[in-house]
Amino acid sequence: MRLKNLREMSLTTFTILYSLFILAFYNFLFFSKVFNISQSLLFTIGTFVSVLFLLIFSCNLFFWKYTVKPLAILLILINSGVLYFMATYKVVVDAVMLRNTLETDIAEVADLLSFKLFIYIFFLGLLPSFIIYKTKIIFHKPLKSILYKLRNLLISLLLIIAIVLPNYKNVSQFVRNNQSIKYSLIPVNYAAGVFAIIKANIKKNRKLAIIGEDARIAPYWQNTDKKNLFVFVVGETARAKNFSFGGYDRNTNEPLEKYSSDILYFSDVDACGTSTAVSVPCMFSKYERKKFKNSVEFSENFLDVMSKAGYKAIWLENNSGCKGNCRRIETIEVCNHTASCPDEKMVEMFSDRIKDLDTDAFVVLHQLGSHGPTYYKRYPENFEKYKPACRTELLNECSREEVVNVYDNTIYYTSHTLAQTIEELEKVSDKFNTVLIYVSDHGESLGEKGLYLHGAPYMIAPEEQTKVPLFIWMSDETSNNLNIDKNCLKEKLNKPHSHDNLFHTMLGLTGIETKERLNSLNIFEGCIKHD
Ligand SMILES: [Zn+2]
Repeated sequence: MRLKNLREMSLTTFTILYSLFILAFYNFLFFSKVFNISQSLLFTIGTFVSVLFLLIFSCNLFFWKYTVKPLAILLILINSGVLYFMATYKVVVDAVMLRNTLETDIAEVADLLSFKLFIYIFFLGLLPSFIIYKTKIIFHKPLKSILYKLRNLLISLLLIIAIVLPNYKNVSQFVRNNQSIKYSLIPVNYAAGVFAIIKANIKKNRKLAIIGEDARIAPYWQNTDKKNLFVFVVGETARAKNFSFGGYDRNTNEPLEKYSSDILYFSDVDACGTSTAVSVPCMFSKYERKKFKNSVEFSENFLDVMSKAGYKAIWLENNSGCKGNCRRIETIEVCNHTASCPDEKMVEMFSDRIKDLDTDAFVVLHQLGSHGPTYYKRYPENFEKYKPACRTELLNECSREEVVNVYDNTIYYTSHTLAQTIEELEKVSDKFNTVLIYVSDHGESLGEKGLYLHGAPYMIAPEEQTKVPLFIWMSDETSNNLNIDKNCLKEKLNKPHSHDNLFHTMLGLTGIETKERLNSLNIFEGCIKHD
């Protein structure tokens, strides 16, 4: 009788016990990592409890009368195999690893089979599956069970919020600094991996929206013996606040000062997102921030439109990838993702590439810039101008002064590499009209309001993360040749602008006419003479 009662339980009780079992038996690797990094038992327990409620929340969504047992058993069986590989090969599980596993052939799988795997599968897979199979779960009538589910969902959600919210600062910093830790959390790691693979496959099959088929160059420039070479530098994590051009009291733009009479600095520019993944595709897209969705990846961008009109478009990549922007144009990887190179290396490669260029060209340089939290790795040691600088990724272990110092060093170094790029452009100015546009993808928090790094939801993101520097460098000779009235542009410098302007402004600068170009968003509108 007792035994029978033990094996009989409500769906809610089953869900709670099941979630507890998964965390306790399959996730010791995850929690030992959390403890090792945080060095806090309290933080580890807090993580355990919040992940537990997260799991209960998810199980509540998926566990129904006819799905609970097949799903619960399937997950347990996969868990045991995944845990075996994680514990034995010290691997983490992500989409790339899953894809590799799925593409492995039978012979290779046979090599991996062992007695130890059998022990894992038996004790952590088959045995618990049998118990689940034998457990009698009591279900309520449909309406009642939906009400119970809603109650459970609400309670788990409130409990998660109650634990996370008061510790938001610690939690957000921990999550940002240890993004890869999720790859150790079973079953979140492989479930997210499967989801990512499915998503990638759907994307692959989606049709790319073609734009700007009508694009043509309607030249406004006077001289015809020179070609045009426009350089668009996509900065990384540079915030407007720390640019001396914008009034910062430290001379972080000093290396650019010798060009300042030819630099037009826009002092009020909003980013499209607070992360690279959102901002970088958005900057090239015709969609404005409010309309921009990730689906835009499937639309052509202004580089495609330029190529159609006759420009040679080239992308130099020294960051985490071009986010789909460079798929259809010539792309040069500065470091091939094997290591991170200082941005000077990209300038060198840029200089090599433009030597034999003899057409109108638009070149994008995607910088490494000020990517955190290891700011001190972004510049060579002789560029450590502001000291003492924080030389660890654990930013909250450094003083505020050390964090600002190390960040300002990255801005100073960015100014240096931009000055080098302008130097290279000056060297080819007998052949080309040259213009350089610099704009950062998003800003950065350096401990203000307890926040570090970036990626805050846009609605609540502080200005440090959303206000970005934007400037245009253009010599008087070039502006004359291109018929651009610099004084007219100067009147616009303090007006509000945003990444929304870029698509239309770049088409405006390059003299491209197409129905996609909105003059209301073109910064050059009214400042270029069309004879
Ligand atoms: Zn970024």
